[in-house]
Amino acid sequence: MTGKRLNGLMAGIWIANLTVCLLVGGLFYWFNAAPAAQADSPNASLVSVNKKPTWTPKPSITPVPPPTRRPTITPWPTPSPGPSVTPMAIPPSNRVVIGHTLENRSQEVFRFGQGPMNKLIVAGIHGGSEYNTVDLADQLIAYLNDHPERIPADTTLFILRDLNPDGTAREHGVDGRVNAHGVDLNRNWPYNWKADWPRDGCWIWRPVTGGTSGGSELEVQNLIAYIDRIKPAALISYHSAALGIFPGGKPDFAPSISLAAAVAEVSDYPYPPLNTGCDYTGNLTDWAANTRSIPAIDIELTNHRDTDFDQNLRVLQAFLAWKR
Ligand SMILES: [Zn+2]
Repeated sequence: MTGKRLNGLMAGIWIANLTVCLLVGGLFYWFNAAPAAQADSPNASLVSVNKKPTWTPKPSITPVPPPTRRPTITPWPTPSPGPSVTPMAIPPSNRVVIGHTLENRSQEVFRFGQGPMNKLIVAGIHGGSEYNTVDLADQLIAYLNDHPERIPADTTLFILRDLNPDGTAREHGVDGRVNAHGVDLNRNWPYNWKADWPRDGCWIWRPVTGGTSGGSELEVQNLIAYIDRIKPAALISYHSAALGIFPGGKPDFAPSISLAAAVAEVSDYPYPPLNTGCDYTGNLTDWAANTRSIPAIDIELTNHRDTDFDQNLRVLQAFLAWKR
């Protein structure tokens, strides 16, 4: 190798080194500076990173705290240990069979308190995958059996633990929703009744109807007769899951809205409820509000499994305290 060729080779190596250095330096700058420019402008080109950035940092945001519920009640202490009896252990004088289903199961109501103002809780209207509402009713019944002092002196509380026991017995799933005629018992009430309805936005997994006419179903007839006997001053119908608190009444019925707001104040259930676009026809709470002037709400538990017991103790307390 001659000296001249060596010089040429050394120069080549230096040029190559310089090129690599420039390339690495350029890449380093691009990786560090470019994302900041690109974050503000998705179309920012490589050229723009050489300019002084024109974006200004976003002002730091002070997060808005979630609205605090201001309960108008001091919540009862959560029972410890939990409710200790099953509904069947309750004295027979407090247990009333209001009727029988198509498959001859009892529809049982449990009564607490002696006051002149009646209030009614209905569970299990949709049996099946909403069976956790029946579990909740059993927990509330057991709790009140242990704590009869929780019922205000002016009130009598009635809890219908399962309106649709045939559905609950059939399956704790979608096939248990309807009664033995395949009728959705919350579509069979004789107000705004339809045999069929648009399925858009509704949870319909099986063939189902609203019945042959409003109030065609035995289970609904039994509860209508019972409601007309006890004339409740307010009513809750429990469902699951997730959509929130629905005030009964078409058009809006102000006392139902007032009751819904009182319950929303002490619970985490969405209110106003989530609107999926489903057209609710022939349902219990609209019937109660429109044909009997009973303030009535539907409450959806959080899921198809849990009873949200602590939360529903607060709901019960607010329900008992609420006045029209
Ligand atoms: Zn339901």
